[in-house]
Amino acid sequence: MDSQEVLQGQSEQKRVLLLMSPATYRAGAFLQAAKKLNLAVVVGIDLPETLSEYWHVPLGLDFANPQASIDTIVEYAREYPISAILSVDDSASELAALACAALGLPGNSPEAAEAARDKLLMRQLMSAGGAPCPIFRPFYLRDDPYETAGQVAYPCVLKPTRLSGSRGVIRADNPREFVAAFQRLKRMLVADGYSPYETAFLVEDFIPGFEVALEGLLTHGQLKVLTLFDKPDPLDGPFFEETIYTTPSRLPAETQEAIARSVSIAAASLGLSEGPVHAELRVNEDGPWMLEMAGRSIGGLCSTILEFGSGMCLEELILRHATGDEIESVERESSAAGVMMIPIPSSGILRSVHGVEDALNVPRITGIEITAKLNYPLVPLPEGSSYLGFIFARGETPAEVEAAIREAHALLRFDVRREIPVLRAM
Ligand code: ADP
Ligand code: CA
Repeated sequence: MDSQEVLQGQSEQKRVLLLMSPATYRAGAFLQAAKKLNLAVVVGIDLPETLSEYWHVPLGLDFANPQASIDTIVEYAREYPISAILSVDDSASELAALACAALGLPGNSPEAAEAARDKLLMRQLMSAGGAPCPIFRPFYLRDDPYETAGQVAYPCVLKPTRLSGSRGVIRADNPREFVAAFQRLKRMLVADGYSPYETAFLVEDFIPGFEVALEGLLTHGQLKVLTLFDKPDPLDGPFFEETIYTTPSRLPAETQEAIARSVSIAAASLGLSEGPVHAELRVNEDGPWMLEMAGRSIGGLCSTILEFGSGMCLEELILRHATGDEIESVERESSAAGVMMIPIPSSGILRSVHGVEDALNVPRITGIEITAKLNYPLVPLPEGSSYLGFIFARGETPAEVEAAIREAHALLRFDVRREIPVLRAM
């Protein structure tokens, strides 16, 4: 190759802006996929300018200040043209949509991105658009808990409008539990910096049933189902910690089709039209019910178990789609796969983890990642926001994969101490 060709090659290399929060689990998978696709990557991270300089992050952004962030992105793009902007997690899906609109790049409309982030707006649009949803009602943190407890049906679920990972989602079966849940949610949101006067939350009918998660890709509003996951553990509350996901789904084909139809209707109701979606539903004798739909791919390290066509990972698929590449096959490989988000057993300081070697030796277990840091506090749901780690498995059938994950999990031992470090006077 002569220098002219090298220059040409470089000028043709597409540049992708990946927006992420510093705590994301998703950076590694996206960066690796971008490298494989020979895309130039610029990372836009939610860090104050001083810190981003310290960490040598090219684009330090303030996600809470969209206009300033858009200005920074537009200015950057003048010098370094950008082909696509993606938020790798929930934190910047609205900013990604706004920045795409500002630069004239294809993407979801800012209105749709907001609807996929704000659970109240999501419910309003989904109900209006004919997607099957629980009955819901908004209240405010300033409302009187005892009065409110008399205005809802039981069992119900209290839910913050803009959090994720089941944070703050609490089931209440009677007015006494409702008041306790209300107070707990209020404490948590106020500690997070939300206004005790202005902040709304949702109360929804509790929908019993079997839970599933659908990974999809939207192109001009058309949904392609990439994978349907079963969540074989019962999720009956009072808190809703994610645990095991297995795929392919064991539900009958017609149920799976009904789920895909509900997700298509939900996407259309929100106006989502481009890129990855992660939808969660419950299924019971009345059919599928939409719990939520996010304009992003599956969280945590869960995507590790997915492979499409001839060895493509989920992030590669998403990046190809975002940069307008032809995608030949989105068929998931034929074997079964599963992942467990390891539940946090109790609050305290994580002192040590044992049994990882034994768990890795369980047949069909393909990997274990302990992501929680030793000597740091573990905070369980509903307040906590991170996982202990992940167990990955692969096998012939989803039942086999599920059994392997349970066996491996039973071999892991987490030493969590309830001690609180005390500072002693000298
Ligand atoms: P988040 O964005 O925090 O994950 P979700 O709306 O997905 O919030 O709720 C988290 C979990 O809580 C769901 O996966 C489900 O298990 C449970 N859940 C939420 N809403 C309901 C409901 N109306 N009925 C039954 N379970 C629910
Ligand atoms: Ca969810």
